[in-house]
Amino acid sequence: MKGLPEGVTVPARCIKTRRLFGVYFEEGEAGMWLAGATTPMDPSALDAVGDGVEIRGDIVVGVDYAGCPHCKGKFLLKCGCGRLMCWDGEERILFCPWCGRKGGVGEGLVGNLSGTAGRVRSERRVPR
Ligand SMILES: [Zn+2]
Ligand SMILES: [Zn+2]
Repeated sequence: MKGLPEGVTVPARCIKTRRLFGVYFEEGEAGMWLAGATTPMDPSALDAVGDGVEIRGDIVVGVDYAGCPHCKGKFLLKCGCGRLMCWDGEERILFCPWCGRKGGVGEGLVGNLSGTAGRVRSERRVPR
């Protein structure tokens, strides 16, 4: 028995303010990870999730995604450095707020999330 899906919180950075926030992912079907709640994250929390769970698979930013808590961007992108950032859905050329790399949207910037994430037991949610 697999048990209840357990969510993980993955650190992301706001592309406009460079501030951190955590994106709560819940494992869905077929190895997909659904983005849900977001919360501003303190930089010190980065260390805490460093040795966390690695999640691999496609990330899905669905209707439940709360958006960036800093700039309200409703999308997520992933850089080649493996980090997540918010996206407002409009800018096509972006600079990663983690590594500074320049990237174009649609060139592998989203999906195939492979990062470390800490388990957040207190935020575990009951699946619908
Ligand atoms: Zn943002
Ligand atoms: Zn990067």
